[in-house]
Amino acid sequence: MSESQFRRDRVPPVADVLALLSIDAGKPNGSGYVQVRCPIHGESNPSLSVHIERGNWRCFACGEAGGDALELYRRARGIPFTQAARELGAWEGR
Ligand SMILES: [Zn+2]
Repeated sequence: MSESQFRRDRVPPVADVLALLSIDAGKPNGSGYVQVRCPIHGESNPSLSVHIERGNWRCFACGEAGGDALELYRRARGIPFTQAARELGAWEGR
């Protein structure tokens, strides 16, 4: 039995993950998206579209896209999945 496991239910809301990346999410538009600067390719213009409820995201400048907050954090920091999960408090055990 494995005692270390990923806990998806503990991944913070995407707005909190953006805050960890020093990005202010601001208010979502009518479709639920915020437009922020992309932490993956490092820009000053807001090319990254993030759905604040679902957590899916896409950058219209560098083309990166993903389905959740953890993936955005992992890609922005350039770290492995388990490290990202640990840093976000979504990893149980060692
Ligand atoms: Zn980008």
